[in-house]
Amino acid sequence: MEKTVGRNQVDGRGGDQVEQVPLFVYNHHGQLVGPVSIPRVEKSDAEWQDLLTPEQFAVARAHGTERPFCGTLLDNKRAGVYSCICCGLPLFSSNAKFESGTGWPSFFQPIAEENVATISDRSYGMLRVEMLCARCDCHLGHVFPDGPKPTGQRHCVNSESLKFTDTDDLATLADPAADLS
Ligand SMILES: [Zn+2]
Repeated sequence: MEKTVGRNQVDGRGGDQVEQVPLFVYNHHGQLVGPVSIPRVEKSDAEWQDLLTPEQFAVARAHGTERPFCGTLLDNKRAGVYSCICCGLPLFSSNAKFESGTGWPSFFQPIAEENVATISDRSYGMLRVEMLCARCDCHLGHVFPDGPKPTGQRHCVNSESLKFTDTDDLATLADPAADLS
């Protein structure tokens, strides 16, 4: 499977031009809208280290995996949205969360296909499908074909890569681009 997110493109005049990607984001009414064109988020490891805890950095930027049954969001039953810990992009809804028994938060689908990029991962002698945030390349976890209906997919995600927002507070996730569209 080819990676579905692109790289920054440098324009012919020598300046960096931040690539735009079509994504679903919340507006100030707390409604998910899209796809709208959103600039990718690109930072150096040093910049991410300043923004994240060491545990978050190890998972989200260094492709680590938290220990099973330890994540803070595994048993979260509240209604709301799980966003990227790095850039705040909405990634999963509580509507698609299910008990997988694996020890990691699991979802049968992303909040929008556009928001979660996938790439084949051949580390540890296995062929797996890795999930990344489509705006900032945050490592989220892996997708497996043994999930429940209706998709049959299990999106196995690290709590360290996610931030939870209650349904009542979704307007706090508003992206300026959503209200311009
Ligand atoms: Zn992100």
